[in-house]
Amino acid sequence: MSTLQEEIQRRRTFAIISHPDAGKTTLTEKLLWFGGAIQMAGSVRARKSTKHATSDWMELEKQRGISVTSSVMQFPYREHIINLLDTPGHDDFSEDTYRTLTAVDSAVMVIDSVNGVEAQTIKLLNVCRMRDTPIITFINKLDRESRAPIELLDEIESTLGMQCAPITWPIGMGKSFRGVYHLYNDEISFFDPKAEKGTSETIKGLDNPRLDEVIGKQAEDLRIDIELVRGASNTFDSAAYLSGKQTPVFFGSAVNNFGVQSLLDAVVELSPAPLPRAAVSREVEPDEAKFSGFVFKIQANMDPKHRDRIAFVRVCGGRFERGMKIKQVSTNKLMAVNNAITFMAQDRNTTDEAYAGDIIGIPNHGTVKLGDTFSEGEDLKFTGIPSFAPEHFRRARLKNPLKMKQLQKGLQQLAEEGASQLFKPLLSNDLILGAVGTLQFDVVAHRLEHEYGVDIVFESFDCSTARWLRGSDADLKAISDKYGFNVALDGAEEYVYLAPNRVNLAMAQERYPDIQFLETREIF
Ligand code: GDP
Repeated sequence: MSTLQEEIQRRRTFAIISHPDAGKTTLTEKLLWFGGAIQMAGSVRARKSTKHATSDWMELEKQRGISVTSSVMQFPYREHIINLLDTPGHDDFSEDTYRTLTAVDSAVMVIDSVNGVEAQTIKLLNVCRMRDTPIITFINKLDRESRAPIELLDEIESTLGMQCAPITWPIGMGKSFRGVYHLYNDEISFFDPKAEKGTSETIKGLDNPRLDEVIGKQAEDLRIDIELVRGASNTFDSAAYLSGKQTPVFFGSAVNNFGVQSLLDAVVELSPAPLPRAAVSREVEPDEAKFSGFVFKIQANMDPKHRDRIAFVRVCGGRFERGMKIKQVSTNKLMAVNNAITFMAQDRNTTDEAYAGDIIGIPNHGTVKLGDTFSEGEDLKFTGIPSFAPEHFRRARLKNPLKMKQLQKGLQQLAEEGASQLFKPLLSNDLILGAVGTLQFDVVAHRLEHEYGVDIVFESFDCSTARWLRGSDADLKAISDKYGFNVALDGAEEYVYLAPNRVNLAMAQERYPDIQFLETREIF
């Protein structure tokens, strides 16, 4: 194997997905700690616990330095390089959350053992499904009175449409939680919330008398359970996992460090190294000699006056080197990149080199756009970086009507950056903003004021979801004539249907069966 191939094979790029409060922040922190990337618990949480009122965007602005650093965390573990990408949740849930999932090769899904599969998990999983992203499941909070493990697996299978293959199995739960049995290593790890790494002892074999000594009567229950589980559950099948059809399942308690090491080991052992990526003209292999990558996220930097942006680039092929001249394919411009950034758990460093699977930040002044491809010269265009149907809408109204031009320009640019989406209904002069998370609106208002000198207020707009329309010119004209107030053009002049409710959407779809109503649109 060449050095390039070796470097790529040792990389793992993944994100953690979960419904708020399932334990994503806790697990992230513990993974970093087990990986030796942070010394103490608390550094990830510090960012989250600074609760912000949504109106207090300045406060958020101040925190951005931290959040830029933490949105990608690289650390070495067991001869591997782990790239852990943050998927913001809670208040700052936005399209970035979804788009980050287009930049990973696998994901870890955290399920709260008390609540089971929850709404946001389903949404995020649907995005993973677009690329059949392999998913490892971590069922968390076994130290609480949970639902029966078999019931949780059934729920994952029926609501998320993936087979479950338990790798570990819990011994009891809540007050009687004693640990997990590893079905493949034939090992029992005893749960000890007081032990530094969550466990004080690991023993081999279900018939080991030490098992009876430590957990007493529960040992016999475990033996019966495991016989049943082996008979009734799926065996782990790597190919099925890699194609997104099966998910290996681990049980644990993140806050108690328990089960975290097995999970991190699984990321290294089971999850894929950087995978090939589809581009318009061809598939790009990670171990190609030449560098290529795409922008999946743009983040405004600390100093808004300078329009500083960081473009997060997922390296898809080859190797990036400091000072390298790379081409921004959309503009055909060459850039010598000396100041790319690698994001570590707590720092950021200037990137000397990066390989397929890594994420590098490229500072720029607004010239780099979401979805842009960079290459060493080839006219490549990566696909699969979509806009997602917004679920929240607002009408932007100017406080000073003379500033219409600035407003349009600002909204257009912010839409290109992915801060929010812009829709212009055919039959009105309204400027409608769409977002998947409401904090996006506060971000836009704040940035319009500070970067474009435009003061706006938001008004409610009666729309519950949007669909991009694809069809013949005649059909698009017909639907525009009939539903002129619902049909709009987006920032890229594409036709969009703004539906006030699901019934209205269903009726429009029924009336125009030859038009496709799409939930996502590829950014070109
Ligand atoms: P996030 O919203 O998914 O990032 O969730 P957090 O990591 O913030 O966790 C939500 C709450 O669950 C916090 O109060 C955590 O301390 C708690 N928590 C996380 N893991 C566990 C666990 O294993 N057991 C219990 N009992 N609580 C947990």
